[in-house]
Amino acid sequence: METRQRPKDIGQELKHGMTADVNGKTRIFAVIGCPIEHSVSPQLHNSIYRELGMNCIYVPFRVEPGCLEAAVRGFKALNVAGFNVTVPHKQSIIPLLDEIDAEAELIGAVNTVKNENGRLCGYNTDAEGFARAFREESGTGFRDKKVAILGAGGAARALAIKIALEGAAQVGIINRTEEKARDIARLVNEKTGGAALAAKYGSLESREIFAGSDIVINTTPVGMYPELDRCPLDDTYDFHAGQIAYDAIYNPAKTLFLSRAEQKGCIAVNGLRWLFYQGIYAFEIWTGKRLDEEIAAKLFDKFSNTVGGK
Ligand code: NAP
Repeated sequence: METRQRPKDIGQELKHGMTADVNGKTRIFAVIGCPIEHSVSPQLHNSIYRELGMNCIYVPFRVEPGCLEAAVRGFKALNVAGFNVTVPHKQSIIPLLDEIDAEAELIGAVNTVKNENGRLCGYNTDAEGFARAFREESGTGFRDKKVAILGAGGAARALAIKIALEGAAQVGIINRTEEKARDIARLVNEKTGGAALAAKYGSLESREIFAGSDIVINTTPVGMYPELDRCPLDDTYDFHAGQIAYDAIYNPAKTLFLSRAEQKGCIAVNGLRWLFYQGIYAFEIWTGKRLDEEIAAKLFDKFSNTVGGK
């Protein structure tokens, strides 16, 4: 009978790989999306576990749209403790969950799921993460401010609702597909009673919204690879000093949108801290732990050095 030999270098692999720390008590967390290869969430969460000495691991899974239901059933069966959800599953996961938190329901999207003794509960940490990051980076909030949002996808919807809930005087959504901007404005007005309006990119109305805004937020992917030399606003939209320009993109750290704003004397902020805080809020939901400010600051420094968005 053939006896299988333990490979000689396995001890070496265990020493250097993360598997060295995994044992029967390890709690497993995950992120699902398609594609998923670019996700930096595993770096963020695994560095938190290492920093706090927690016996947890966070792994990425590519889940094709047709496999979502099977993946969710599998997570329940395997007792995965919690997982993040990214494009394209943030909406389609909702009917597969046992419960959904009020803010996620309002936004209509879930990016964080907690497994509570076999019941899957959905949350959205994008909006709260963004609001905290914005406050810290710009030193101001949204009360009585006029805000323009470029783009009308999932991120724009979460932000528009949050910004309206925080008391903005106006939320103007500008998008190349006007109907999608109108849908978000309608939703915001219905759910929050906020002053949302919509305009097609390139229209006179969109230029007026832009010029009259205190804060301009880019939620289109224009400016990230492969469109590094493109700006979501052409030269006819001219920033003016005093405006705050916020880009959801964090890689590259300074998009053309942010450089143009800076040249006009605006405060320019990228989306890295937002990405960080949506992850921190997910961590807090899953573990019930609250990260103190000092550890959060240290982790953010590490994260920004690794991801390169600073
Ligand atoms: P999404 O649902 O796909 O929406 C993208 C929006 O951008 C759509 O309204 C689309 O317009 C518009 N758009 C796409 N390509 C465009 C182009 N070439 N020219 C003009 N408009 C264009 O995406 P999402 O989930 O909202 O995410 C948007 C961006 O935010 C992504 O870059 C994402 O990485 C980033 N994000 C960052 C964070 C963070 O933590 N920093 C969090 C969430 C999202 P149409 O409606 O006309 O198609």
